[in-house]
Amino acid sequence: MKICIIGAGAAGCLCSILLKRKLPEAQIEVFEAGKHPLTKVSITGGGRCNLTNSFRQIGQLKQAYPRGEQLMKRALRHWSQEDTMAWFEGEGVRLVTQEDECVFPVSQDAMQIVRTLLLRMKEEGVVLYTSHKINDITPGQEGYSVSFVDENKKPRHFDKVVCTMGGLPTIERFALFRHLTGLSIIKPVPSLFTFCIKDSSLTSLMGCVVELVTASIASTKMRAEGALLVTHWGLSGPAILRLSSYAAKYLAEHHYQAQLCINWLNTQDEQEALQQLHDLQQDSTRKQVANEYPRQLSAKLWQHLLVRAHIDLQKRWNELSKRDLNRLCATLTSDVYQIEGKGQYKEEFVTCGGIDLACINISSLEARQHPGLYFAGELLDVDGITGGFNLQAAWSMAAVVADSLAKNFS
Ligand SMILES: Cc1cc2nc3c(=O)[nH]c(=O)nc-3n(C[C@H](O)[C@H](O)[C@H](O)COP(=O)(O)OP(=O)(O)OC[C@H]3O[C@@H](n4cnc5c(N)ncnc54)[C@H](O)[C@@H]3O)c2cc1C
Repeated sequence: MKICIIGAGAAGCLCSILLKRKLPEAQIEVFEAGKHPLTKVSITGGGRCNLTNSFRQIGQLKQAYPRGEQLMKRALRHWSQEDTMAWFEGEGVRLVTQEDECVFPVSQDAMQIVRTLLLRMKEEGVVLYTSHKINDITPGQEGYSVSFVDENKKPRHFDKVVCTMGGLPTIERFALFRHLTGLSIIKPVPSLFTFCIKDSSLTSLMGCVVELVTASIASTKMRAEGALLVTHWGLSGPAILRLSSYAAKYLAEHHYQAQLCINWLNTQDEQEALQQLHDLQQDSTRKQVANEYPRQLSAKLWQHLLVRAHIDLQKRWNELSKRDLNRLCATLTSDVYQIEGKGQYKEEFVTCGGIDLACINISSLEARQHPGLYFAGELLDVDGITGGFNLQAAWSMAAVVADSLAKNFS
């Protein structure tokens, strides 16, 4: 039995180890386009590798996986975050779960994950080829033949093929599937990015953090909660990254031009915010409005918001009219900024889109029209928010494919 795995990333490497342990007789060969395997994993989590998440803060799976929720529900039932942790700990990698529920190696070194996977591949007898970029997959009578971009390398034939090429950023990169009929592609677009906002009154607050806001895209239902960070180019932080994930397709379609609405107090509604302002007014009647503000905001941010609400900073709280309070309340709960492009988020970046899940059996991850052809990882139209969810998706899917393939031969 000859099995080819395309891509030596998170999904491909774990899949090869699990497969070889289940099918020791099988010949498993992994082809990697780059000079080195697992290059992306080596830079994950800012070099610390946030390899999974406890999921304790996740109510509904759709919050963690805006695309591929149903697939992930099954995949996590098969190989959960606990399985990921148990597996890596079993291979000698001690892990720690942070307060924010993100899981890292105790060593805080992504290279420990890389070394562990590569060592186990070697020990199990997986054959790894680097600088072998696959150019084409062609179905034959029995199995598939794969050919390489480098024409000096002869095409090879395999009984089964597992595709784990990661997130391909453009539709052209899917050309290697051209001979596989019935595989449709959801146009890839970026996810997990920050927002460029060209408003110097906002960006002058660079470094300002608010622990809990609600950020939404105006006139849509897309919203996310979390901390927010003002940067020199606009806005970042978990609330923005989450929103960029939920709104990835919408923002791409709108050329990254949209109105962002921020509820700085994270209140349910305006009424709740108005009540907070009334309480503040009662407690601070003779004090200057610029100096007494909701505890979750900083003085600088508060003054910025007062200016936006056209409130004179010299006024005292008891001088604010009902109209002033209503205006201030509106600014605090629906403060609108123009998004004018996407920024970078160096810690993480993923592709939304990829192989359409309708083309695969989501329980086995086998292509519906191509028996023996499997998919796992970011290549599929599955992606998560930041916090270890994307690697968890890769590990879970790798395990599903390994088990589906092994079942075929038992
Ligand atoms: C900077 C950064 C930081 C990140 N940090 C985190 C994090 O901390 N936690 C988290 O959960 N997620 C993180 N992610 C996302 C996570 O790394 C990916 O979702 C995950 O690696 C996907 O795994 P994969 O196996 O599907 O693809 P990859 O790990 O990307 O592997 C795919 C492999 O396939 C190879 N390949 C592609 N095409 C071909 C071809 N034609 N022939 C042969 N080989 C090919 C590629 O070279 C690559 O090595 C981060 C991403 C980035 C960019």
